[in-house]
Amino acid sequence: MKPILFNLTDAELTDFITKLDQPKFRAKQIREWLNRGAPDFKSMKNLPEKLRTDLDASARTLPVQIIKKLESSDGQTTKFLLELNDCEQIECVLMRTSYGNSVCVSSQAGCAMGCKFCASTLLGLKRNLTVNEIYSQILVAQWELRNDKLSDNHIRPNGDANNGDVSHIVIMGTGEPLQNLENVIGFIERANSEMGIGWRKITVSTCGIVPGIKELTKWGRPINLAISLHAPTNELRSHIMPINNKYKLDEVLDAAFEFSALHNRQLMIEYILLGKKNSSGETELFNCDAEYAKKLSDLLKGKNCMVNLIPWNAVDERDFASPSGNAVHNFQDILIKNGIHTRIRRERGQDIGSACGQLRLNNAKGIK
Ligand code: SAH
Repeated sequence: MKPILFNLTDAELTDFITKLDQPKFRAKQIREWLNRGAPDFKSMKNLPEKLRTDLDASARTLPVQIIKKLESSDGQTTKFLLELNDCEQIECVLMRTSYGNSVCVSSQAGCAMGCKFCASTLLGLKRNLTVNEIYSQILVAQWELRNDKLSDNHIRPNGDANNGDVSHIVIMGTGEPLQNLENVIGFIERANSEMGIGWRKITVSTCGIVPGIKELTKWGRPINLAISLHAPTNELRSHIMPINNKYKLDEVLDAAFEFSALHNRQLMIEYILLGKKNSSGETELFNCDAEYAKKLSDLLKGKNCMVNLIPWNAVDERDFASPSGNAVHNFQDILIKNGIHTRIRRERGQDIGSACGQLRLNNAKGIK
């Protein structure tokens, strides 16, 4: 297997370079390129051409390699399918928004949680990602933004020029971050110290692993927490999210509000709106009729939270349907009338299969 230079310590990198009969300062030059996310050695313009070719044949730059890159038609969302050194695949998404550049990273290859609406979990969990593998996803996005700047290709939706830096991180890609907590924490600490990304610009999303939420509280960094709730009753939630059999709704919300209160932060609640086709082919509301809107309101009344309503992104293997725009607005209206802060999550990159795990799954199925 080719060595991954990003994974080497400075001393190891210098050793590697001097063994190629190169002066030591080359190691420093290579490190600078790696820290900018250079995907290959060809891009390392201040290295001699012969060295670049030799390195391309004998080593890899980052622990993730881009194998597919998709751009949404508005040019503001870029989705990457990345390959790890053991050929596992993960996804990450760069979103250019009016408030900055946000990157959604994966924390695991696959997922063990078994949520009934999600593509990521269909092939099971392969393994946890290392700190370097999570961090490299940010570097891939950072390199892409640098290319934006060079080509002047993208402007942000508010018309501002893109300043070319990743400003926000959401750990909402494939996997359950609280099942890989040590590496996720290592990654966040590093994104903060090395990339200068503020705690408050980092969000961890979980399906509700209560001991993990308590660990985050102990850790004490004022990041944002998002809970994938998706149902306001234990009965319905256990039906679509097996984790609810282990950690019940109230227990999850108690732990989550304890975390957000400690940092005086608003808790983010994720709520996918699911429909189901009936025997005559019409879409019936599954978790988003008026009764569930009322129940969700009762559950969250008076709490410091924001409910993100997410119309379900269709996944072929899953037996759900997307509700109509009208149904989405009706659900939101009931929450608003009950004093719950809510917004409908704008679908980003829907044309490029931006739902969790879709790209990876399609690739595994051989759909190009
Ligand atoms: N395991 C973590 C993070 C990964 S999933 C969690 O559960 O929060 C990120 C978010 O995408 C979750 O809220 C998840 O429920 C949601 N999601 C998964 N599949 C989706 C789909 N097909 N359409 C819309 N949202 C989806």
